Amino acid sequence: MSSALIAGAEEGILVDTLITIDQVDGLAEWVRRFGKRITGVYITHGHQDHWIGLARLQEHFPDARGIATPEVVERARFEATNPGLSGYWRASFPGELPQTPVLPEPLTAAEFELEGHVLRAVSVGWGDTEHSTVLHIPSAAAVIGGDVVYNGVHMMTAETDEKTRDAWIASLDAVAALNPKIVVAGHKSVGAPDGPESIGASQQYLRDFSRIVNEGGGVEEIVAAMLELHSDRDNPRTLWHSARTAVAKRG
Ligand SMILES: [Zn+2]
Repeated sequence: MSSALIAGAEEGILVDTLITIDQVDGLAEWVRRFGKRITGVYITHGHQDHWIGLARLQEHFPDARGIATPEVVERARFEATNPGLSGYWRASFPGELPQTPVLPEPLTAAEFELEGHVLRAVSVGWGDTEHSTVLHIPSAAAVIGGDVVYNGVHMMTAETDEKTRDAWIASLDAVAALNPKIVVAGHKSVGAPDGPESIGASQQYLRDFSRIVNEGGGVEEIVAAMLELHSDRDNPRTLWHSARTAVAKRG
């Protein structure tokens, strides 16, 4: 997964937080090398892997306010209080998560600024979850894509069906329409270039997944067919999870 730093001359804003104490400490060490005062942490969507590190991050950068759209804050609150969801992350990383979660605060407007440059929270709707956003930085022709854009790793489709995957593909059209030169995916393989090619590649992956699921095969067939088309992507565990969920949803 990725966290992005948007740096001005003196101040910086981070996008998404990583998960464990160790990961966040490593992130903070990396951020310090740029010598910026971190004033905000923008959270792209409500999944905990993108905001659960906020509590630890604020120990490193006390001026960093967590911010998100109101819908993302609500989803984050749901994830923090839902026993199944918060239990999943605590069981995955026992003793490695902040004890008390800190939620982002709701933005009152979609646009905010970093040293006079506009940053815009674009609510696109579906990504790998509802109420997803991307952060658009027009002056840098950059989009921080959260989990709307994946790059070089298998995509988590477990919360979607064919209809919401179509909505996700439309969200990616909305990202492309911003004409970005830099696109940072929320989940990416190490070293993958942050270019706009990841937009179309994500759309192709989602189309392939829906088509293959509709062919009616079981979990192993779906995984095998997807691996044949997308063998270059990391993290097949996610594909297994997505395939199992798709088969279960057939009822
Ligand atoms: Zn994620």
